[in-house]
Amino acid sequence: MEHPPLTLGLLHVAALCLFLLCWGNSSADAKWKKFLIQIDRAVENYKPCAKENCQCYQRIREQDLAPFQEGISEELLSEAISRRLGTHYQIVGKKLYREHDCMFPARCSGVEHFILEIIDDLPDMEMVINVRDYPQVPKWMKPRIPVFSFSKTSEYYDIMYPAWTFWEGGPAVWPIYPTGLGRWDLMRENLISSAEKWPWKKKISKAYFRGSRTSSERDPLILLSRENPDLVDAEYTKNQAWKSEKDTLGKPPAKEVPLVDHCKYKYLFNFRGVAASFRLKHLFLCGSLVFHVGEDWQEFFYTQLKPWVHYIPVKSDLSDVRELLEFVKENDDIAQDISERGRQFIMEHLQMKDISCYWQRLLTEYSKALIYKVKRKSSYNEISPRRLKTEL
Ligand code: UDP
Repeated sequence: MEHPPLTLGLLHVAALCLFLLCWGNSSADAKWKKFLIQIDRAVENYKPCAKENCQCYQRIREQDLAPFQEGISEELLSEAISRRLGTHYQIVGKKLYREHDCMFPARCSGVEHFILEIIDDLPDMEMVINVRDYPQVPKWMKPRIPVFSFSKTSEYYDIMYPAWTFWEGGPAVWPIYPTGLGRWDLMRENLISSAEKWPWKKKISKAYFRGSRTSSERDPLILLSRENPDLVDAEYTKNQAWKSEKDTLGKPPAKEVPLVDHCKYKYLFNFRGVAASFRLKHLFLCGSLVFHVGEDWQEFFYTQLKPWVHYIPVKSDLSDVRELLEFVKENDDIAQDISERGRQFIMEHLQMKDISCYWQRLLTEYSKALIYKVKRKSSYNEISPRRLKTEL
């Protein structure tokens, strides 16, 4: 006769637990409703793009070339050359020619690698390729001059191309990247291996950043890390322009940490630098959750990365960063889902073949806007494929 009351008692306890659990969950849901709704909506509206022929990026190519669809005359192109907005290249008879000087030879070389790879499929054309960090054609500039740049904001008419760093010529970071950040094909493999060593459940639940002070937009995260090192591990490293501790926000520079070692951490931060930072694409392949600060500075592939679907968007002044970190910590499964979608996008749509494909379609479509026959400049040298040291 003792059993029924005991069973009833257990049932009561179970019901109470269930109630508390549901109430607990629903109060957590209510607390994070604004983010949960945004994530649901973003995921629902997201249409994945086809893998073939770098189709994902068709719209951005069209958008960048649209301002030049009325035709590019020889006079217009001469403006870009005489104003020294970039390096002048010609493609004539499946050969690549370049003016003698290039401001950053390793960057030109990184660009030339991709053009030479596809040269047999390209018609005659000429173009001006800017290898500086900053775009060159603000929307107020008259006339509207066609110049290729790797990064821009909506205030510019530059035509975006895949940065040299996919092959070579990225920033030299001593001692981790002494010859410059490049070889995206090899970086991909290394990051994929590192992600395997650091699966989501093993990662340290902290926000992480290492980089130099190329923009003061990064300061609030460094300061938050100094104030709350359990939440954030963010430090400034030196770059070539470093002069004093002022350039590392009043503290000695931190030791440089290779991108593969960022994969230990769950939450990885990306910021603009002088223009877009080359770091962004790497962070996704760690299988970590990317916090992307600000949205002004673009590279050609950014438009297909969607906030809440692939990454956590953070305001430029970082005013929402504490709340966002609290949210992802309390919603670990959702955070993991976002990180996984981000990883998958870069895995599938930012392969080396997508970079070559983008170059090929971009230059082919651009060449159609030229309304004159290109004449080869006899003073220009032919650029031939260079053999890599590793191939010798
Ligand atoms: N970098 C790195 N580890 C470091 C410092 C920098 O991997 O400790 C990488 C960083 O991810 C970026 C590049 O080096 O891809 C240059 O970083 P920096 O912050 O100097 O400039 P950014 O281009 O981001 O403005």
